[in-house]
Amino acid sequence: MIEEGIDGTDANPAAAREADEALRKAEDAELAARREHPENLDTEFASPLADADERVIESALRPKRLTDFTGQVRVREQLSLILQSALRRGRPPDHVLLAGPPGLGKTTIAMIVAAELSTPLRITSGPAIERSGDLAAVLSTLSDGEVLFIDEIHRLARPAEEMLYLAMEDFRVDVVIGKGPGATAIPLEIAPFTLVGATTRAGLLPAPLRDRFGFTAHLDFYSPGELEIIIRRSAGLLGVTLTDEAAVELSTRSRGTPRIANRLLRRVRDYAEVRADGVVTGDIARTALELYEVDFRGLDRLDRGVLEAVVRRFGGGPVGLSTLAVALGEEAETVEVVAEPFLVRCGLLARTPRGRVATAAGWSHLGLDPPPSLAEVPGLFD
Ligand code: ADP
Repeated sequence: MIEEGIDGTDANPAAAREADEALRKAEDAELAARREHPENLDTEFASPLADADERVIESALRPKRLTDFTGQVRVREQLSLILQSALRRGRPPDHVLLAGPPGLGKTTIAMIVAAELSTPLRITSGPAIERSGDLAAVLSTLSDGEVLFIDEIHRLARPAEEMLYLAMEDFRVDVVIGKGPGATAIPLEIAPFTLVGATTRAGLLPAPLRDRFGFTAHLDFYSPGELEIIIRRSAGLLGVTLTDEAAVELSTRSRGTPRIANRLLRRVRDYAEVRADGVVTGDIARTALELYEVDFRGLDRLDRGVLEAVVRRFGGGPVGLSTLAVALGEEAETVEVVAEPFLVRCGLLARTPRGRVATAAGWSHLGLDPPPSLAEVPGLFD
């Protein structure tokens, strides 16, 4: 079963046509929206979060099988073993937890798990399940072996979370009928299923929930080489011609994130179509990305805003997350989940017990001389 995806072809041409059509429509809508509101062109440009339109475009670019999935080599190997052994035993595999920043492929992996197991997939998210009844409705209608994907699982309401414990362990839910002292819990058998949970904040998951996953995968940022492969594959699917130099340029500016790589590719394609002959060259890519305010390391406005605030307003830190968020007028979660992991990964920012601190490289990235205390200890934060 797992080998079926090796050639990367889509087993269902009708579905592929449908995806193509959806992609075309979403792109048209996106272009129209941008023509209508050119002022929105550069906002949230390099955010790893996707909006609804983008989700449609993404679905056409998503690798469908494990063998098409680039990078995350260890996770892929471990997952392949788990899935193969489940198929051999004829039983659903252990529940899988995927942790990592947005845009790194968690939803894609959930879809791949279902495809490799040839089972249906049900998708929901923590915030969508407001009451335990919502979850009971989902769980009680799962078919045998179905994969249930809960995105942002750290945001599940407490009663739903408790219901999930029992469901994950015993494939059973207790439905409570009535209220107060007369309330009774009626146990309800549910079909064996595999839960794939995704979270951008694994630290927020309560231990009893975390422990019920048989396999936890931590997704990491992608290397430029891996992103280059992803960009070339997406360019093929979108019919974009790009030079090797352009592929390298895009890969180093994609913040280690496939979602951003695909987005940058579409934006430079637009630029190449409007301002040139449609071919994305290195020069075109650089000029377009400058226009969109994505710098040579892939930092966007929010990233630079965080770094600038730490350096210029708080003298390089340490500064606490909530103070920093207030200074930026952003949600603390946006700063923590969207900007920080990449800044830390680049060695521009460090998290210390006393707060966030700009590293010597962080100061230099803004064209400033690091204070002597940082400069004197080379490599302290590298
Ligand atoms: P997440 O759920 O972690 O936010 P997604 O799974 O939605 O991320 O991935 C975002 C986009 O990035 C998808 O359109 C997908 O095409 C692309 N993508 C993610 N990981 C990979 C990968 N390893 N190889 C190719 N494309 C990928």
